[in-house]
Amino acid sequence: MLELVIDLAALRANFRQLRQWCRPEVKIMGVVKADAYGHGLVPVAKTLQDAGVDSFGVAYLQEGQRLRQAGITAPILLLMGVLPSEAGAAVQADLEVALFRRDIATALAAQARQQGKKARVHVKIDTGMGRLGILPGEVLPFLEFLAGLPEVEVAGLISHLATADWLDQAYTLQQVREFDALLRQVRDRGWSVPASHIANSGAILALRHTHLDMVRTGIALYGSPPSAEVPPPVPLRPVMSLRSQILQLKDLPAGSSISYGRTYIAPQPIRLAALPVGYCNGYSRLLSNRGQVLITGQRAPIRGRVCMNLTMVEVTHLPEVQAGDPVTLLGEDGPARLTAEEVAAWAETINYEVYCLLGNSNYRRYTGA
Ligand SMILES: *Cc1c(COP(=O)(O)O)cnc(C)c1O
Repeated sequence: MLELVIDLAALRANFRQLRQWCRPEVKIMGVVKADAYGHGLVPVAKTLQDAGVDSFGVAYLQEGQRLRQAGITAPILLLMGVLPSEAGAAVQADLEVALFRRDIATALAAQARQQGKKARVHVKIDTGMGRLGILPGEVLPFLEFLAGLPEVEVAGLISHLATADWLDQAYTLQQVREFDALLRQVRDRGWSVPASHIANSGAILALRHTHLDMVRTGIALYGSPPSAEVPPPVPLRPVMSLRSQILQLKDLPAGSSISYGRTYIAPQPIRLAALPVGYCNGYSRLLSNRGQVLITGQRAPIRGRVCMNLTMVEVTHLPEVQAGDPVTLLGEDGPARLTAEEVAAWAETINYEVYCLLGNSNYRRYTGA
């Protein structure tokens, strides 16, 4: 009844566009946390690995382990790091760790010693995101501390940008300058830093001088700009679409109320289509009386409240439609198109959340493999 379609050919095309946009020596990390933003961790990672991505970024240990079990051999960075209790498993699976705590470094070193391996870490620095990471003033002492742990290899320094999706680049540039200054200090101390990276999709698309050694891209791979303020300079194709069909069609007289709470009363006779999709499918209840869908390439507005498994749309203006006709909730229908950005605006959120919610709540079908 409801199908989430993931177009791996579009994913591959987006990766190629980004690969060409970045200088050839810049490495590209594909960010596949949150089940690849709802697109499916393993199929997305396999497609990207085959296309030549350099490494992967995930949030949790378990995601890294799943990638290893699926045969992914490229470097994998745990962007949120690990808990001390997870250090052994991370070393075991050859996962790189974002690092911002000394006790975690000690745990990694102990586990690496036991396993006769090195633990590879990326020291996470808070240059102004105000989230994870050590502050710039703590970086040199932290590296000094790590130098005393021979089993811990510093594979990179990492920072994250707070406003890379803004038109106003002042704060982003300030963060990048702070990061550059730190890298210089580290090199002046005679330490080599194999990979430093700060650019997310916003910076990748809008600020090429921030690419440094490596970039970390998520949303652009999935075919969306990070915000309306950063229009992609290269063509990107949305990878996800959500398809359904009309479950029931009926004509109702003027004055009829639609769905729970009677929030829509038909001002005139209407033709109403019931669709088998609701908030349990990640289709936000905020879309009630606000969102639209595509039927026969035309827009149909949602009437009344979105329910757990059902949503009603008006099709009075589309006299040709029949029960069973295809419905597009996200994606293209002929020349018409509904983007995650548009759905996000109706649902008072961002495209990232639309992808995560829809992607992680529905059965997925893959095309373009
Ligand atoms: C999620 C994430 C990214 C990717 O961000 P996009 O805006 O999707 O490109 C990059 N770096 C870190 C640390 C992240 O958590």
